[in-house]
Amino acid sequence: MSTKVVKFGGSSLADSNQFIKVANIIKADPARKYVVPSAPGKRNSKDTKVTDMLYACYDMAVRGGDFAQMFDDIKQRYLDIIEGLKLDMSLEKEFETIRHSFMARAGRDYAASRGEYLNGKILAKYLNYAFVDAAEVIFFSEDAKLDLEATCQAVKKRLDEVGNAVIPGFYGSMPNDTVKTFSRGGSDITGSIVAAAVNADIYENWTDVSGFLVCDPRIVPDPEPIQTITYHELRELAYMGATVLHEEAIFPVRKAGIPINIKNTNKPDDEGTMIVESAGTDDCKYTITGIAGHRGFVTVTIEKDMMNSELGFGRKVLEVFEAYGISFEHMPSGIDTMSIVVHKNEFEEKEEALLKALNSAVKPDKIEIDRDISLVAIVGRGMRSQRGTAARIFAALSHAKVNVKMIDQGSSELNIIVGISNEDFETSIKAIYDIFVVQML
Ligand code: ASP
Repeated sequence: MSTKVVKFGGSSLADSNQFIKVANIIKADPARKYVVPSAPGKRNSKDTKVTDMLYACYDMAVRGGDFAQMFDDIKQRYLDIIEGLKLDMSLEKEFETIRHSFMARAGRDYAASRGEYLNGKILAKYLNYAFVDAAEVIFFSEDAKLDLEATCQAVKKRLDEVGNAVIPGFYGSMPNDTVKTFSRGGSDITGSIVAAAVNADIYENWTDVSGFLVCDPRIVPDPEPIQTITYHELRELAYMGATVLHEEAIFPVRKAGIPINIKNTNKPDDEGTMIVESAGTDDCKYTITGIAGHRGFVTVTIEKDMMNSELGFGRKVLEVFEAYGISFEHMPSGIDTMSIVVHKNEFEEKEEALLKALNSAVKPDKIEIDRDISLVAIVGRGMRSQRGTAARIFAALSHAKVNVKMIDQGSSELNIIVGISNEDFETSIKAIYDIFVVQML
């Protein structure tokens, strides 16, 4: 029988109704043997995630303030779930331990991790699965980095013993047994680790959207979902702002060759997005896979006569940026010009000193700065085999009266990045979506 590791995000487990949906999903497929829950998320847009409540409550405890009310509010979230599910269980002992640990200053990571821990206890009881505390099987080393090898061994051994199990997301333990969490959203990482450890056939990541969308729904209403995306494409899109999954969650499953399926708890029949190591172009519905972008870049264009014959010119320029701790995003160049695209906020605070250093390092004829740059990345493995993709992008932008300030295409032909004015940001994404998707529907 195949094995699936299923991770459910905070909105999928925000209240008892959501728990019922989750249990139905799990029970619908016996391969869904290992379950990784997040802490209860927001029940509506004005609500607060339990993780945030725990941080705030712990901070209050550390300041020596009265945290009783905050603590009771957290407790109530869990009591409501238990009551809604009509479960015969009490977490009184756990809450007492947590309260004491708060007073004993057990640490912010410990505090936050209790969100997943308690949710895991309830879910295990509701599903009648074993509960495996992540602190017993997920290990960080002395330098606070995940010890993937030791963790995979421990997870595998333990899960083989217990059969079906719930393993809370987001945390593990340090060599001195204190609790340590991943960065925010880190239950995705736990799910990925568990999937790698048990060599699952698939890692299902259940959330509140039906996978990755071709572009940001705040710009294009109701965009098409992406059915299949490669890890490479995902990396490009995530880097340019598309988020659904914690970036570090990719590594363990990718290394083990396990695909990730992003699914929607509220619409379980939707296919969602499949993330795979490699995919052909047959299943590319459109030439492009996705469009993402960011506002707020600056280009620094350095001009110098005969630059192209001056050996080491580029290196010297980049060394100056490096010395000021500014990483560059792109570097399109001409015969006697070189443009460095950087994040505006990183650049502006060091601008004066950096320009001075550039002037003395390479003695340019001129340095020009354009502070009005947005970048839009058009990503897709399908571009490689299609002629005319670039032509279609630029025709679409030209029809939309957008002036293209910069173009960058990697030789992998996986993406084309265009630089435009900030005011053209949304228009550009809409125009590109229109030509590649709407007109193909
Ligand atoms: N509960 C944690 C957070 O809010 C981890 C997670 O949900 O993945 O960041």
